[in-house]
Amino acid sequence: MIVMNVLLSLGSAVKIGYKKGTALHEQKTCYLMMDGECNAGCLYCIRATNKNKLSRIPWYSYDLEELIPNIESKFERICIQSVNHNNLVSEIKEIISNFSNSIPISVSISLKDYKGIEKLYGHADKIGIGLDCARKDIFEKVKPYYKWDKTWESLEKVSEIFGDYNVICHLICGLGEAEQDMISTFQKLFNFGVYPSLFSFTPIKGTKYEKSHQPNIESYRRLQLAHYLITSNIRTYEDMTFQGGKVLFDNHDLSYIREEVFITRGCPSCDRPFYNESPKGTIYNYPNQKMVDLIEIKTNMINHKIY
Ligand code: SF4
Repeated sequence: MIVMNVLLSLGSAVKIGYKKGTALHEQKTCYLMMDGECNAGCLYCIRATNKNKLSRIPWYSYDLEELIPNIESKFERICIQSVNHNNLVSEIKEIISNFSNSIPISVSISLKDYKGIEKLYGHADKIGIGLDCARKDIFEKVKPYYKWDKTWESLEKVSEIFGDYNVICHLICGLGEAEQDMISTFQKLFNFGVYPSLFSFTPIKGTKYEKSHQPNIESYRRLQLAHYLITSNIRTYEDMTFQGGKVLFDNHDLSYIREEVFITRGCPSCDRPFYNESPKGTIYNYPNQKMVDLIEIKTNMINHKIY
């Protein structure tokens, strides 16, 4: 018998039937989070002070044993979100060991030095690493617990262990970087076999960044297109044009505007619905292609092209 509690995201709890709510999207990935304190204290993150929240999403504690059959029968993938405390890797391994291997497991993790991460090889097929920032100065300011150089070094090493594009690097747009910084980061990661995954900064009450704003949506759409072009091997950072830090697309680039550009992109089946935004407002990462308002996006992007 397992005696362990984990946290389940609201959308995952609604899909299982533990919470009431109308799902606007048929969620494919079940998002779990480790219980306990997080001692990292990233400036934009609420988790260190409120263990039942991550980004704008509420999380609820459940007994793991009770959850497993529901998760394995209702989802295509599990994503375990770690929090930073001692024995983190062993604790994740213990959570994973209770599942039957019937669906793949991603682990989203940030560590100081990534020692011991190899223990997860063969248990998780994808590892998500939170670099979050596209520039060293921003990283040092907002993630004081971690080290920029160590994180880059580890991205490369973890990728060697888990294989090409099985490491997903989480990046947050809107922390003060230019489009060019973010796009060069996409390319650098992609060149050494790490898949970049883009999210939008979300101001959360109770954090030091609660009064900051989400990124400009037009700029975010340009980043999504640049991400698609790079990760589909259509263009490289080196052959893109920038002006004042902004990317300039030509008609050929714009011809690739399609639904899949604007969905959550990371592990297969990752949808993280409404993680960055309320479903009532501007959607940064659409959880599925059917929800993408392509006509509006296309009109805005083509009207704002500069080249
Ligand atoms: S890309 Fe999605 S499923 Fe993969 S680790 Fe990140 S949040 Fe989890």
